Amino acid sequence: MSKYRIVNVGTSFRESARASVLVIYTGGTLGMVHDKTGSLVALQFNQISRHIPSLKVLGIKLTVISFPAPIDSSNVNIHDWKDLGYIIYENYHQYDGFVVLHGTDTMSFTASAISFMLQGLNKPIIFTGAQLPISAIRSDARANFVTALEIAAAKKDGRPIVPEVCIYFDYQLMRGNRTFKKRSSQFAAFGTENYPILAKAGINITYFEANIKPYSPDEKLVYRDKFKPNVIIIKIFPSMTETVLRNMLATPGIDGIILETYGSGNAPTDSWFLDALRETVDRGVVIYNVSQLIGGMVIHGRYETSKYMDEIGIVPGCDITTEAALTKLMFLLANESDVKEVKRKLAIPLCGEMTLPN
Ligand code: ASP
Repeated sequence: MSKYRIVNVGTSFRESARASVLVIYTGGTLGMVHDKTGSLVALQFNQISRHIPSLKVLGIKLTVISFPAPIDSSNVNIHDWKDLGYIIYENYHQYDGFVVLHGTDTMSFTASAISFMLQGLNKPIIFTGAQLPISAIRSDARANFVTALEIAAAKKDGRPIVPEVCIYFDYQLMRGNRTFKKRSSQFAAFGTENYPILAKAGINITYFEANIKPYSPDEKLVYRDKFKPNVIIIKIFPSMTETVLRNMLATPGIDGIILETYGSGNAPTDSWFLDALRETVDRGVVIYNVSQLIGGMVIHGRYETSKYMDEIGIVPGCDITTEAALTKLMFLLANESDVKEVKRKLAIPLCGEMTLPN
């Protein structure tokens, strides 16, 4: 990882703090402030208390690591995921929890990627961001950040309440690898259609423990940082032509495809369509069938229009989001040595990212 900056924010002293949290600032709207000319620039994090004076009375010892050059999350790539995963892994034992400040555009992808990189996790990693910069009067940044810190520090009987990778946004705590960004101009930016929320923040924070991954101290943290970006997403649509499909399938160098299909995993049954998919699978490319619906559940064979998927060797993604499917595919392609194992692991949940049909 390139050098990163550590900023001590000057909140509670470690001795009087009830918890210590490492904040990792990657960029995005939350950390933007207006400079003298009125342009939005990245916040100097040692000045954060000026924008959120309540940080001083939270009783949480804060340390901030800032990416050397904070990014708009539209520029995020596997190298940023590796840097972020490495920072958390390297500091894992020193802190009670982690808060990642990240742009909203690709937050669900990064949160999913981190969940695959750090399996066996037993501490909270809470992603958050904002729709309005922290310097804006009506910004959601302050409330999102402060509550994310509270959740990262929350313990019951000395154990973390939420030992998993989450997104906290607009009063809701969601499992990170179940989320997707659904709105760009409202404060409720994220959805989690196929999995219930983990907590709701009101006057108190109510945790829905049955939905939260249990704390399991015997599980060992497994850190793996490889991703293979040689994948594409193909979203099928009515009247897609053979030429278009074949050109996409023939993209040089690809090892995996997310096939976004209709409803419960359905797609055309024209013989040219099936032949093109079959030839692609036969040349060793992994195809993962994911529904275009935000609340979809892929079940091969439910309709005639998905019956052939198993026979061709396409893997059903059940109710996984495209964000989690893409990062899971990139992760498994890089970390498993054979295609059979990639396919086996794609079909099962690795860290709560999907539910198998009954
Ligand atoms: N484009 C910004 C980003 O994702 C939007 C945001 O921060 O919400 O970094």
